[in-house]
Amino acid sequence: MSILVVGSVALDDVDTPFGQRRGALGGAAVYFGLAASYFTDVRLVGVVGEDFPDEHVELLGTRGIDLAGLQVVEGETFRWGGKYGYDFNARETTYTNLGVFANFQPQIPETFRRTANVFLANIAPQLQLSVLEQVERPAMTALDTMNYWIERTPTELRSAIESVDILLINDSETRQLAGEPVLRKAAARVLEHGLELLVVKKGEDGVVTFSREGIFAVPGLPLDSIIDPTGAGDSFAGGFLGYLAATGDRSAEGIRRATIYGSVMGSLCCEAFSTEKLADLEPQEIEERFQEYKRLTHFEYSPILLNA
Ligand code: AMP
Repeated sequence: MSILVVGSVALDDVDTPFGQRRGALGGAAVYFGLAASYFTDVRLVGVVGEDFPDEHVELLGTRGIDLAGLQVVEGETFRWGGKYGYDFNARETTYTNLGVFANFQPQIPETFRRTANVFLANIAPQLQLSVLEQVERPAMTALDTMNYWIERTPTELRSAIESVDILLINDSETRQLAGEPVLRKAAARVLEHGLELLVVKKGEDGVVTFSREGIFAVPGLPLDSIIDPTGAGDSFAGGFLGYLAATGDRSAEGIRRATIYGSVMGSLCCEAFSTEKLADLEPQEIEERFQEYKRLTHFEYSPILLNA
């Protein structure tokens, strides 16, 4: 079943210890869409300016992403700058130029309104709510957000969270949202907003999913090379929700597999600048990395007699 993503489409300036890119394809909806496109059909809603290069549109097209909801308007595309040192979990945002994204009003094309699955990437909660009003009874809805909205528009954010099935946020946002420092307690409090599932992203340290069925945690895959972690969180969401959209399996086992596919896509994203790796993967690479995760996390219980 298809998935609709609504969010940023950007041109990124990224600096890492291994090099830099200027005006590279980025944005939450882009990373999400590319990652999800290996699992299911993707429909994208976003906005760019007239400066957005044709080659980026073509690249998204090669992955079969339906761009009927991509508005091209007068002005400049959203631009974001990020800088990393050797600790990839610590990122400095060097600048944010909203450009045409400042006046973004998501308009869901008629042909997208019955999409079975919806992902609301990190945009203003009011806009996320307006998307939910335009779609017809999706089978699965999910939402991402950031500390900016937790601090500035808590009431709208609460309504948005109460309107979806799944929330994907990072660990510090989970604590902030709940006003509770212990992650497990914070997650339990956030789940009380009527959520089916809470996915807590911990960057290089992996991810923990919380639901009524229990808790599942996976580590980040120790990679041989990390070139640019930009978009890893959205790529995680693309793999995770793409898998759930493709299978419709939200059982405890299905959620575990989705968590691994999400982690696989997040880790692959980090191995090249921008979308360079994510846009050009063989399905085989994805399956092999899934197996690598299995080997990484598997162990047998073999008790010894402990001294009393
Ligand atoms: P991630 O590394 O998963 O947090 O995603 C980074 C991507 O999000 C970059 O490609 C940015 O263009 C985009 N981005 C950064 N800040 C924002 C923002 N305030 N709203 C929407 N998208 C953003």
